[in-house]
Amino acid sequence: MQACSDEGIQIYGGMGFSADAPMEAAWRDARISRIYEGTNEINRMLAVGMLVKKAMKGHVNLLEPAMAVGNELTSIPSFDTPDFSEPLSEEMDMIKKLKKVFLMVAGSAVQKFGPALEEHQQLLIAASDILIEIYMAESAILRTQKNIARTSVEEQKEQIAMSQLYLYSAVKIIQNRAEEGISSFAEGDEQRMMLMGLKRFTKYANLPNIIELRNVVADKVTGENKYPFTKA
Ligand SMILES: Cc1cc2nc3c(=O)[nH]c(=O)nc-3n(C[C@H](O)[C@H](O)[C@H](O)COP(=O)(O)OP(=O)(O)OC[C@H]3O[C@@H](n4cnc5c(N)ncnc54)[C@H](O)[C@@H]3O)c2cc1C
Repeated sequence: MQACSDEGIQIYGGMGFSADAPMEAAWRDARISRIYEGTNEINRMLAVGMLVKKAMKGHVNLLEPAMAVGNELTSIPSFDTPDFSEPLSEEMDMIKKLKKVFLMVAGSAVQKFGPALEEHQQLLIAASDILIEIYMAESAILRTQKNIARTSVEEQKEQIAMSQLYLYSAVKIIQNRAEEGISSFAEGDEQRMMLMGLKRFTKYANLPNIIELRNVVADKVTGENKYPFTKA
């Protein structure tokens, strides 16, 4: 919301900054959501902190999948060419890999610090950002897949493009936040192995044409000369 209203201000130019144009209020309305109902910082620490606590109590199985990812890191990667012919199938595969990034970072952090992890606030926030981006990207892709099943690939062209664009930006954020996390607790060979894993788990088989995807969305908006994605 914040990013959208910010772009809205930009589109209005100088008028965007003025209370006479609608974007000024939209920006402030979006901005407050990072403060009320718990600030971003507190909610981020809670999200991962609670997950880790549940894992330690045995209520959520985090450590076993994290260990499986650890084993995968030391094994030889598969060189099979996956079948990505279904729409958004490469994207769903990327989501699976991004979950491994979270397990790698959060699992290793739990192993390193145990209950003292809650004192490592920046690490918790980095892990939480990874979790949030996976949730957002997966939600967009699943929603678009449902829409495709209900209509057609052609009718969902712009939604597919938006899901792909969101995933692309999520991958970049996750790469960055995972690097921060890994470098905060791993050194030498261990760090190198985890960074190689990060590379493996964030690699596209076919990177979509990002500029073209943006054009697909922009063409729809300029073609209809309004926000075209709400149901009548
Ligand atoms: C428009 C509006 C409507 C609201 N409506 C309601 C409502 O209906 N009901 C209600 O109960 N409350 C409401 N609030 C209050 C809101 O929930 C609080 O403002 C919010 O939880 C943040 O608390 P605070 O303002 O005391 O900031 P603080 O807790 O003082 O936080 C200040 C800054 O420090 C950071 N910070 C604090 N502690 C830590 C920490 N341990 N580690 C890292 N960073 C930290 C915060 O993230 C924040 O950036 C509303 C607030 C606003 C602005």
